[in-house]
Amino acid sequence: MQNEPSLPTPGSFDHAPRTRLVFGAHAVEKVGVLAAELGAKRVLVVTDKGIVTAGHAQRVEHLLQAVGLGVVIYDQVRENPTTRDVDECVKVARAAAIDLFVGLGGGSSMDTAKGCNFILTNGGQMKDYWGVGKATKSMLPLIAIPTTAGTGSECQSAALIADEHSHQKMACLDPKVAARIAILDPELTVSQPPRVTACTGIDAIAHAVETAVTKKRNPLSLMYSHEAFKLTVTSLERVLSHPLDVEARGRMLLGAALAGTAIENSMLGAAHSAANPLTAHFGIVHGQAVGMMLPLVVRFNSAEPAALRAYAELASAPEIACVSEGLEVARDALVARLEKLLNLAGMPRSLVDCGVRRETIPALAEEAARQWTASFNPRKISSDDFVRLYTMAFERRGDGA
Ligand SMILES: [Zn+2]
Repeated sequence: MQNEPSLPTPGSFDHAPRTRLVFGAHAVEKVGVLAAELGAKRVLVVTDKGIVTAGHAQRVEHLLQAVGLGVVIYDQVRENPTTRDVDECVKVARAAAIDLFVGLGGGSSMDTAKGCNFILTNGGQMKDYWGVGKATKSMLPLIAIPTTAGTGSECQSAALIADEHSHQKMACLDPKVAARIAILDPELTVSQPPRVTACTGIDAIAHAVETAVTKKRNPLSLMYSHEAFKLTVTSLERVLSHPLDVEARGRMLLGAALAGTAIENSMLGAAHSAANPLTAHFGIVHGQAVGMMLPLVVRFNSAEPAALRAYAELASAPEIACVSEGLEVARDALVARLEKLLNLAGMPRSLVDCGVRRETIPALAEEAARQWTASFNPRKISSDDFVRLYTMAFERRGDGA
């Protein structure tokens, strides 16, 4: 019976909204009052040079100073931060005797602030916190202010930090490291370069799609996934063609945050498992790598009836399709919309275009199968399956065929 809803029987979950969301145009102006509410006296703003150049760091500094808070800026954040970046940030935080973090920027700024928070408050090294709930002492409050609409890190209790030498990415999860408040101000995202808008937007959509089908999905996580998908899939084209449209930027920003909340509850799937080795070994930008693999993973997972139905229902949320037309029809409409957006966003569509060497496929597939996210994929997936997916990603053409 195709029309029966597919809501999974709720398994056990434990969900406490950890991050207060403050959304709206000019929301950033509340940062001083919100920091004071959290009892701050001295604040470390963790950000990158691009955000300083855009003027956002200075604005936040003035807003914090206006309510009498001391402010120190750490503006050395790099993409995909490593243990060295965290160590540098800790030195600054310790010397300034801070009592609150502001993570201002993309996912890397928030990851650096979170990584620094672990070490500053609990000591030791990043690898001590690799895994779930390894920190025993309380941490400093964090206010996250995203300037991209993508990672959803502002709503996640994870710091992603790579080892400086091995480049192994360590996911350090702890409820205490989640931002206490996320300030979602669409106007701050207008300054994103077009490539960043495209890559982070595709990543946010991939988060909505993957979280909607994982083994851990539940009625609560689906609520976030579906709403995130509706907001982002209908707005990405608009922000690409009209970057100054603040309303569309707002929908992307809120959608990315809701998708981040969905990840907290549902984890991710095989598109992320396949993407991570491509980023680690060939430097392919995360959103590009995820986008390239996502349509292939949707088709692969559709062999699992419950996943096929979940994709069809996801496609029905923003009326891309209707479940009553048939599950395959709805899934195909979903894939067609993803392909269209990937092309509009100028994403590379074949691994040939990304400098990946064909002979590396078996090693990449082994690594993909070992990713934590693979264990949540709705269809069991082996390294042989990843070999087939990577091979398809080599052989496809730019039109997604
Ligand atoms: Zn992602």
